Order: sequence, then C-alpha cells, then structure tokens
Amino acid sequence: MEQEKHVLVIFPHPDDEAFGVSGTISSFIKQGTPLTYACLTLGEMGRNLGTPTFATRESLPGIRKQELLKAANAMGITDMRMMGLRDKTLEFEDDEAMTQMISDLIEELDPSLVISFYPGYSVHPDHEATARAVVRAVRKIAPSERPKLHCLAFANNTYDDLGHPDIERNIADAKDEKLNAMHAHISQTARWLEMIEEGIKVNDPEALKWVTTEQFYSYDWENDLVE
Ligand SMILES: [Zn+2]
Repeated sequence: MEQEKHVLVIFPHPDDEAFGVSGTISSFIKQGTPLTYACLTLGEMGRNLGTPTFATRESLPGIRKQELLKAANAMGITDMRMMGLRDKTLEFEDDEAMTQMISDLIEELDPSLVISFYPGYSVHPDHEATARAVVRAVRKIAPSERPKLHCLAFANNTYDDLGHPDIERNIADAKDEKLNAMHAHISQTARWLEMIEEGIKVNDPEALKWVTTEQFYSYDWENDLVE
C-alpha cells in the first residue's frame, strides 16, 4: 500500500463503499493512515425493504444508519461523517452547495487522496451527482496542490471507454474486515453477498477477486467530463 497523509472517501449511500472500497479503507486504516468517510445520505429511499418486510419507509433510515455505523466499525473507521442530504434527490441539489460541502471537507482535512465515483460511469443519478461535485471541488485546487482522485467506475461501457483501471490494490490482508463490512449492510447486500461467499467456499476465482483486489481509475483531468 502506498503511504497517504489523509484519505477522504465520499459516497452518497451507506453501502456504496461495501463491495468496491471497504478493503482499501480497511487497509489504509490498518497501516495507520488517517481516513474520513463522508456519506452524503442515509439511503432512506433504498428499494429493499425485505421479504418478509423488515423496514418501513419511516424506519429504513434508522436501520441504514445503524448498518453504516456497524460497517464503519468493521473497517475501523473513527471519522465517519453523515452529511444529512436526502437520498434520491442529489441530482436536484444545488450543484454549488454540494460542491461547497465537499470543498469544506477538503479544506478541513487536507487529504492527499480522495476516493469517489467516476463521473459518467457510476450508473445511479445520486452517484453521478456526487462524482460531479467531487470533481468540481478538487478542480478548484491548483493542479500542483490537488489531492489524487481515485474513482470507482462500473457502467457497462467503462472498459471500452476508460480501458483497464490503472490502480489495483491487493486487499487480501483486509479480507475479514471487508466481509464484515459487507455483512454490516445486510439489508442491501444479502443476495449478492451470499453469491460471493458461496463462491469463496469453492475457490471460484471471480468470487475470490472481491476479497483480494480492488480497482480504481485515476481521474483523467486531460479528458475532464464535468462541466
Ligand atoms: Zn449508491
């Protein structure tokens, strides 16, 4: 693992970090790197209310908040910021206000690395709104002073457009923390997690990938996709 001064992780929903980033988060924390996770909403509009139903619209935010705290605990996160925006509304948030919220975090924490979604390749409107705000906030900083920006991308056309991710981290040492983090978000992750864990049992390489490597793209400032 590379050495970082401070890592700032920014996602809109509790569980956005679970599958793609929780191993990286845990690895940084295990090596003593200060890390802040800013989660913009409580995912209160999450589709999954369970069968049988375990939640109502009213109780879901509380449940997901508890899950997020449990996941933070599993990853060893001590600086968890719940930013209090409303789920499924980020695309309608004032761009300036959201960008400012992220600029304020960057100014306070002075991270050397920011991790979020790749604009244009993160599928959900809340993910895209977050990705755009992160790019705008980082872009305001002079290139020589900017933190690195590592992005998750998973749209179908990602490989065709962006090629292979330039960052691949070995997270095998954080396997247990990652599985615990994925378990913490069980209201949203149950089905996928079951598939992964069944695969791990039989050494299926595709399943093992989830607990051995995480991949990111460095944001390409030369081909900036954000207005
Ligand atoms: Zn999400």
